[in-house]
Amino acid sequence: MHYRPTRARINLPAILHNYRQASHLAPKARQVAVIKADAYGHGAVEVAKYLAPHVPAFAVAFIDEALLLRSAGIQKPVLILEGVNSAEELKLAQQSDLWPMLHSANQVDGLLKSDGLDDLQCWLKVDTGMHRLGLNPVEAQSWADKLGRKLNKKPVLASHFSCAEEFHSETNKHQMQQLFALAAHLDCEVSLANSAALYTLPGAAVGWNRPGIMLYGCSPIPGKTAAEMGLQVAMQVTSQIIALRDIEAGETVGYNGRWQASQKSRIATLAIGYADGYPRLTNSSSEVYLHGQRAQVVGTVSMDMLAVDVSHLPQAAIGDEVEIWGQHIPVTEVAGHANTIGYELLTRINQRMPRIYQ
Ligand code: PLP
Repeated sequence: MHYRPTRARINLPAILHNYRQASHLAPKARQVAVIKADAYGHGAVEVAKYLAPHVPAFAVAFIDEALLLRSAGIQKPVLILEGVNSAEELKLAQQSDLWPMLHSANQVDGLLKSDGLDDLQCWLKVDTGMHRLGLNPVEAQSWADKLGRKLNKKPVLASHFSCAEEFHSETNKHQMQQLFALAAHLDCEVSLANSAALYTLPGAAVGWNRPGIMLYGCSPIPGKTAAEMGLQVAMQVTSQIIALRDIEAGETVGYNGRWQASQKSRIATLAIGYADGYPRLTNSSSEVYLHGQRAQVVGTVSMDMLAVDVSHLPQAAIGDEVEIWGQHIPVTEVAGHANTIGYELLTRINQRMPRIYQ
């Protein structure tokens, strides 16, 4: 039971719909559903349980996230994008059908020195230009050869685009060509495309794709809406008006008086603040949605509350539901006002925010 009227409603069928959109874009490839960071704030266990019958594998960032899925009874293979670092983790990975994406000489060497891992399915991260994780293609070739001799299954060769959301990017093409050349030489499977690349570089969407953000109904391409891309919003955050007041022209709202009313105004206080993941400072005014209209967030957002100018909504009353983001206000729009991206706002959703599954 939650008494505070602030919620994240999670639409699991929408996530499945979006997963199917990814499959539709790349029908010959397999799609690993990326559910790291608590499924981008949507609840990894709940999302994994719902998607499990429909997906070949999940991906998370690190082993603890994978083990959480195992302890919740999820049995599908789980790709670990940051690999694993110790003999104990390697053993756990083999026992639990976790697929470490090894990204450094240390990690591969650790595997080569361990015994009893013959059946481990490992992936090898190749640095084709992102320069974050991965072995350069020359190193990767020699480590992949050694892995191929030690393990029963060849490694899948993976890379990550640095500019995936750009159409006609030479950088992306170069990254793709490097990985494909190596994979052809070693006769290994490949994994390249995240959500954006499924749209911008369909040629890269072969082997295993790794869609994340699009599963949650967020457009991966700046300037294109989720609806235009056939995606359904998976999270709607709502709160309620908990206080209402009229203020005079010249009066200010919130900490440090950062917003001043230019005319007599009606201010609604909502039960959501930065401790719930709403950005505290925005560089332009973000909006919420109530009574079929938008209303401007005014003043500095507090830890547990924010204020909205509802002067144009005389019907606004205490207890009214307000959409913070979701169907009418895309999370990417709120993020844009705070100079960030939808990913960051979604992954900031924390234990304080009850999630209601539909
Ligand atoms: N693959 C890797 C290696 C990632 O780090 C991520 C996300 O950050 C993804 C796939 C999923 O990307 P997206 O959420 O943009 O689809």
